[in-house]
Amino acid sequence: MRCFFILLDGLGDRGFDIFHGKTPLWAATTPNLDYIAKIGGTGIYHPYKIGVSLPSEIAHFLMLGYGLDEFPGRGILEALGNNIHVKKDDVVLMARLLGIREYNGRLLVIDEKPKVSDNFVKELIKTIEFVKIDGISFKLYPIKESFCIVVLSNNASGYITDSNPIFKDYPIFKVKPLKGYGDDINTIKTANALNKYILFVYKTLNKHNYKIKNNNIAIATQRPGKLKDIQDFKDRWGLRAVSISSSKLYKGLCDIIGMDSIIIDPIQDVGKDLLKKLELAYELKDYEFIHIHTKAPDEAAHKKDPILKKNIIESLDRAFDFVIHDILSKKQDLVVITSDHSTPSCGQMIHSGEVVPIVFAGCGVRVDDVDRFDEISCAKGAIGLIKGHELMSMILNLMDRGRLLGLSDCEEPPFYFPGNFEPLCLKE
Ligand SMILES: [Zn+2]
Repeated sequence: MRCFFILLDGLGDRGFDIFHGKTPLWAATTPNLDYIAKIGGTGIYHPYKIGVSLPSEIAHFLMLGYGLDEFPGRGILEALGNNIHVKKDDVVLMARLLGIREYNGRLLVIDEKPKVSDNFVKELIKTIEFVKIDGISFKLYPIKESFCIVVLSNNASGYITDSNPIFKDYPIFKVKPLKGYGDDINTIKTANALNKYILFVYKTLNKHNYKIKNNNIAIATQRPGKLKDIQDFKDRWGLRAVSISSSKLYKGLCDIIGMDSIIIDPIQDVGKDLLKKLELAYELKDYEFIHIHTKAPDEAAHKKDPILKKNIIESLDRAFDFVIHDILSKKQDLVVITSDHSTPSCGQMIHSGEVVPIVFAGCGVRVDDVDRFDEISCAKGAIGLIKGHELMSMILNLMDRGRLLGLSDCEEPPFYFPGNFEPLCLKE
């Protein structure tokens, strides 16, 4: 039995007047998703706590049954995803090149996500690629367009604040030690060196007269992280797992939790893109848990255009014809369709904290009377509200792989059954 875990990134949304208060998903015409809701059991899901907005990488980490305290930081995932070698003691920061104007002695962000070519970034990075300040080494790696990572070596501390304000019209923030680390020498040294580094990069790029749309360029950082030893997904959940996506971030996530990953080039038609991933997933007979990811709803929502998001959802719906006729019709496997978070097509929040709809189909799922897949209809479903790693427990449960609580077949009983038991031998 296999679980096809289909993740429509950033699917949940707000209600819009243009849709008479409905969300883009609710307003969309989605006959295939609705049919799966009709033959399945529905509910609502949040990977953490209702109301808390999550970035995709943390949402996925929690969904896959890991804890916030285990999370290594997004910079680490980006480094692994892009095959950048990181040592155990390195601190890895996400970084972004920003369009800047000086104002009152501050670096005011004018363009928080500038459109720049990879070649432009590769060229300007040559002047700032490797810098050593107060004994700490800074190595800058371009990832995509204005997005980079910075790797800090030589006793750097990750207990520091962000410098990137994310939003325009804010100044670049001064980096400080986090609460509790104000007396830690390495943390103080790292914060001071990083502030000097940000100013060095700004002045150097200015000296070389690099501009983005007539604005000066600065670099700003966020979300520090370090490598951690994290239990493999197979050991935690007992399932051979693979992820199919078009983002190196998910390769990084899979690398850190010991899951296989397949990155395929995106197709512009998002319905065909998802169909290609589903067809590939179906052929992967050696895996028991297959994560199939599309970023399309999230990207549409970030354009702050609810009609675009509705249209994208309708395009994606076409791919679910394959799920109905080629997967669910065989009555062997479990299909789970949900999202990692809501992404509002309005306002300034990057993601938002509302729950997302979820449907389970196949494998003796209790079928309820919900016949639409959207945030409101699924809230009336028989699965109810599930949060955090209850999702993976529910998947194990429906795959008949769950453990009866209290059974100890090995030293550290996992969530699944059987665990790594040792047989008693006649010749003991
Ligand atoms: Zn996401």
